[in-house]
Amino acid sequence: MPHFLQHLSDILFPRYCAGCGCWDTDVCSQCYLLADSEPVLKAIDDSSGVPTIPIWALGAYRKELRNLILTAKHAATHRLDSFLWLAGTRLGAAISDDVHNHPVWVVPAPSSWKRRWQRRHVTPIVARGVVAGLSEMGIDAWLADIVRLRFGAGAQSSRSGELRRRGRRGAMKTTAIVPKGTLVVLVDDVMTTGATLAEMSHVMDPHVVSGAVLAYA
Ligand SMILES: [Zn+2]
Repeated sequence: MPHFLQHLSDILFPRYCAGCGCWDTDVCSQCYLLADSEPVLKAIDDSSGVPTIPIWALGAYRKELRNLILTAKHAATHRLDSFLWLAGTRLGAAISDDVHNHPVWVVPAPSSWKRRWQRRHVTPIVARGVVAGLSEMGIDAWLADIVRLRFGAGAQSSRSGELRRRGRRGAMKTTAIVPKGTLVVLVDDVMTTGATLAEMSHVMDPHVVSGAVLAYA
């Protein structure tokens, strides 16, 4: 847009970084670097017998990273797609060692109907980044949005850890069968109790090799 219109727009709709709140574009350059961090390795160990799988994360769910994720999920004021996508590519590159040149389906965590309706997609964008990151490393990777919540299974964010675990058991189904020899990488935005990833792992067994999340709580 013409310069004076941009200036007018900045006055009418002041912009600030979704991560640190500084007066800048949607994400300041400092916070944008969080998407380019070296991923760290976590693990989920579900008490009900789901095997432990390695989970890669950009970092802990706090400060700027937490603000960015919350804004991406809930606020329409900021465009964070390129941040989410870059984060996905870094996670995908980190995962490439886990898959040993097998073809990979990258499976995003199912979103609630409410979120689908509101079109606040975070996990699918990260998942597309993971596909790109794996592809760059020479892996045959595809986005496979094949896990759905069963009817009546809603969002988990207001529940306690134990309720989440119980609530997730049996809450998901797959819409496609993973071909033999194809590995599955799970993607979610935040890992809190690990219940979502554990249930995904349960319904996709035995193909799951690892997971990627933006942050762990
Ligand atoms: Zn910032």
